[in-house]
Amino acid sequence: MNILMVGAGFSCAVVARELANAGHKISIVEQRPHIAGNCHTERDGETGVMVHVYGPHIFHTDDVEVWEYVNRFSTFKPYVNRVKSTVGGSVFSLPINLHTINQFFGKTLRPDEAKAFIQAQADTSIENPRTFEEQALKFVGADLYEAFFKGYTKKQWGCEPSELPASILKRLPVRFNYNDNYFFHRFQGMPEHGYTALIEGILDHENISVRLNTAFERGMMSTFDHTFYSGPLDGYFGYSEGRLGYRTLDFERFIYDGDYQGCAVMNYGEERVPYTRITEHKHFSPWEEHEGSVCYREYSRACGVDDIPYYPIRLVEEKAMLSRYVELAESAEGVTFVGRLGTYRYLDMDVTIREALDTARDYLRALRENTRVPAFFVNPI
Ligand SMILES: Cc1cc2nc3c(=O)[nH]c(=O)nc-3n(C[C@H](O)[C@H](O)[C@H](O)COP(=O)(O)OP(=O)(O)OC[C@H]3O[C@@H](n4cnc5c(N)ncnc54)[C@H](O)[C@@H]3O)c2cc1C
Repeated sequence: MNILMVGAGFSCAVVARELANAGHKISIVEQRPHIAGNCHTERDGETGVMVHVYGPHIFHTDDVEVWEYVNRFSTFKPYVNRVKSTVGGSVFSLPINLHTINQFFGKTLRPDEAKAFIQAQADTSIENPRTFEEQALKFVGADLYEAFFKGYTKKQWGCEPSELPASILKRLPVRFNYNDNYFFHRFQGMPEHGYTALIEGILDHENISVRLNTAFERGMMSTFDHTFYSGPLDGYFGYSEGRLGYRTLDFERFIYDGDYQGCAVMNYGEERVPYTRITEHKHFSPWEEHEGSVCYREYSRACGVDDIPYYPIRLVEEKAMLSRYVELAESAEGVTFVGRLGTYRYLDMDVTIREALDTARDYLRALRENTRVPAFFVNPI
């Protein structure tokens, strides 16, 4: 088969590689001047530091096959994500753990005592939390909610936490021990030479060609047997049903001589600070040495027509619009929608790769069994 793929991020790169291995010819068009989508990394011209251009990316997974897959294309260096938060003139450890609780309340509680203490803080009058705010108040009480969730969430999502669904905060965001590893997953690390080099390795196959600086046009599809599309779902249909809402990010770059903040990610929970966090990129590569440092202040806002879509909003209104696009997609011929933009979901890299591996297998099975290739191998709703 001759197959067209739109986008050179993890989604299409992995599907491309698997189909190329099976003997199919893949042409990828990518509108940006580089591969790797939002995971793109490059060396900063001034400091030589490896920069996560579209925001910090830490690889973490419990999926053994995915972990082995990425390790085939890059050496992974050990990396544990430890996030700090500056609130009210002090620095705290995140996610909220025993250290955070003791420091915040000026106590020396042991785990059982801390559990009882937090339970006493929690708002027990809330039986069935409907909103993010109610959920947080029920879990941790007003003080921790105000310090660590309220301002940050408001800045991140541009609305009151009382307008967001409770489902965003699924489980108790507190640990009653001193574990400050941000992630629970078994495998965690950083690709030694960055994500772009990793994806370059995935795309390095004689059956795969990539055209950069090339935006997809529907006319391109006619010379191919099938298209995998990892661009925005609404964009494929010319936004006929309206624009699916996203949050976008602005990064304000600055240089520092030495070590600016001593860690990779420092959150700013207060509303009066306009940015959500500062990323100091050299701490993502602790095995390298750099005198200079490059940092990004990160601001979140509503995504405009010419902005890069980052986080899908997926509230009631957007979900209704998404259903209409899903209907259109299901009646379209010769195209399968994949990835974070094609299915309008937030996906971590490991989930993206898992879905791409499964998609490639399901597609090859559909070819073997001569059945219709669906618009989605994963239901976006
Ligand atoms: C700020 C931020 C931080 C994140 N941090 C982490 C993290 O720490 N750990 C983690 O596991 N995951 C993280 N992620 C998630 C990660 O970015 C995604 O899993 C990954 O980018 C999904 O890959 P994709 O190929 O589906 O999409 P993308 O990477 O977005 O790739 C899609 C590609 O399609 C191209 N494209 C779009 N439309 C067109 C068109 N019309 N024509 C041609 N090309 C087109 C785009 O330019 C892009 O290159 C983070 C995401 C964000 C937003």
